[in-house]
Amino acid sequence: MKCDPTLYRAAPPSLAVKPRLVRHLFLPPLVIALMIGLGYIGFWVSEHYGIRSLSENGQRQLELHARAVESEISKYTYLPSLLELESSVSKLLDDPTPETRQTVNEYLEGLNRRSRSRAIYVMDTTGRVLATSNWRDVDSYLGEDLSFRAYFQNAVRGQPGRFYGIGSTNGEPGYYLAHGLEEHGKIIGVAVVKVRLEAMEERWQRARLEAFVSDENGIIILSSDPARRLKSVVPLSDETKEKLARSLQYYWFPLNELQPLARETLAEGVEKLTFPANSELAADEQNITYLAQTRPLSDTPWNFTLLTPLADLRREAINQGILVAVAFALVAFLLIAWNERRKVIATRLAAREALQEANNQLERRITERTTDLRASNERLKGQIRERRQAEETLRRAQDELVQAGKLAAIGQMSTSIAHELNQPLAALRTLSGNTVRFLERGQLDVASTNLKTINELIDRMGRITASLRSFARRGDDKGQASLGKAVDAALQLLGSRMESVHLDLHHDFNDVQVQIDQTRLEQILVNLIGNALDAMHAQPLPALWLEGEEYDGKYRLRVRDNGHGIDAEARKHLFEPFFTTKPGEQGLGLGLTLSASLAAATGGHLGVEHPASGGTTFVLSLPLVSPTSAEPI
Ligand code: ADP
Repeated sequence: MKCDPTLYRAAPPSLAVKPRLVRHLFLPPLVIALMIGLGYIGFWVSEHYGIRSLSENGQRQLELHARAVESEISKYTYLPSLLELESSVSKLLDDPTPETRQTVNEYLEGLNRRSRSRAIYVMDTTGRVLATSNWRDVDSYLGEDLSFRAYFQNAVRGQPGRFYGIGSTNGEPGYYLAHGLEEHGKIIGVAVVKVRLEAMEERWQRARLEAFVSDENGIIILSSDPARRLKSVVPLSDETKEKLARSLQYYWFPLNELQPLARETLAEGVEKLTFPANSELAADEQNITYLAQTRPLSDTPWNFTLLTPLADLRREAINQGILVAVAFALVAFLLIAWNERRKVIATRLAAREALQEANNQLERRITERTTDLRASNERLKGQIRERRQAEETLRRAQDELVQAGKLAAIGQMSTSIAHELNQPLAALRTLSGNTVRFLERGQLDVASTNLKTINELIDRMGRITASLRSFARRGDDKGQASLGKAVDAALQLLGSRMESVHLDLHHDFNDVQVQIDQTRLEQILVNLIGNALDAMHAQPLPALWLEGEEYDGKYRLRVRDNGHGIDAEARKHLFEPFFTTKPGEQGLGLGLTLSASLAAATGGHLGVEHPASGGTTFVLSLPLVSPTSAEPI
């Protein structure tokens, strides 16, 4: 079954190839870009929420450790004010005698030991140390002028003196708490307690906690990492640096800034700080990022900062980002594969549908054409029936016409026939009368001769009527005849005559089937060949040619002789009934007339040609039964 090729005509290449090319060119970079983008978003979201949860957790830690720092500091706030109650101290301030000084020194020494502070000392209003707990030490404060210290200046004005600084005598850091000692509403001196806070740092280190405390100047005074100590967490102007240096608060230490590589404020008191890898603060190779949470410490202008490393969180966020990117790549791959498969299935379905459609169309066309064919077949059958009927009618009409023609011909010939018959009848009458008289006279031999003549005349009349009867007979015009057989029969009939003249006979025709009664064809041929033999009786080398050819659905047989031919006058009457040139009883003059009529009755024709070379050619044309059945003889 063939399908309509137009159904499978592909789309124009320009339309089919371009989008695919574009897809192939842009899809991989797009997928990679989306992978990177989504991976980054995954990383960012994971880090963001991780920081949030870390900062919530860190807030609790911050509170806990800040409280610990606060309690550590506040533990000593009451201590300097206690000295107000001590009478020896008041006495020393009123009258600083060596004895009183010694008494106070010893008192302070005992108090310092019990309170586990670093040093306790008393100053007069000028800032000179009058008595101190470390009076025995070489680097004792005794007699030192510390009026430049900020805690003294505050305390002497009646304000609480809180101060972190580095000792100007021994360069030891400490927390100084100063209190103005009053007597009768007047400040007579200042009591100072120096506390060491390094224990806190050690505690942080043991707990692997990263934290620091920055003072009112933004200088880190306590830090779990010693490298950060005495670094500024805020930018310091040159003026501030100079002022701080003058105050000797931080002794002679250089006050560098703790400069992070990146700083990002996440919320109030929450920052993200990154320190460089090669920083002296960072031990390992990589940059270190911290979540820095800061909270002010109560009762002091200080801040406590808790540092939580974000390395683990960042690693986890990177893993999450990679996971998101890989998941997206997997989903993209599955989607692309699914889409490709969907397209393949769609193409197959479309092809199947197209094939089905082509089949349906073909079947529809076959059905339509079968219907058409059936209809045209029916029409043809109808037409054949009609034609057969018409043929039948025509044939009947033809028969009628032929019959009518024959009768008409006989009618036309009737005068001639009557004349032809009257002559012998008249002769018969005379002869029979004469014969009777001769018999009466006893002339038997004459009577016998007359009777013979009478016999001959009767024969002739019989022949005439027989010919006419057979011509007029209805129904013998149909049938088919074999030309070969008819020629053979005619030659056999004329055999004795042919032998006597030593005829040179030439055959050149096919044994075809022609539409005429076999006997009638033989009759025609006997007439034509017989006439030829008659015409050649004086010819020393008589020759007869029988030549045939197929022409326009008919078979044309030429009967040619080399006889005396036909003169011009005879040619005019050749086919007229009873025209004969033959002497005596030899010719009836009906042969050509009847032969022509018989040929015409079957749709054929009999004609004559007069070759220039001499002789005569009669041409007999008869319709062929089947033009293709011709076989050479
Ligand atoms: P018949 O043979 O009885 O004379 P036809 O009708 O057969 O009658 O012939 C008519 C005349 O035509 C003949 O008498 C003859 O003169 C002439 N004729 C016929 N055939 C030939 C022929 N082959 N050659 C010369 N004349 C012919």
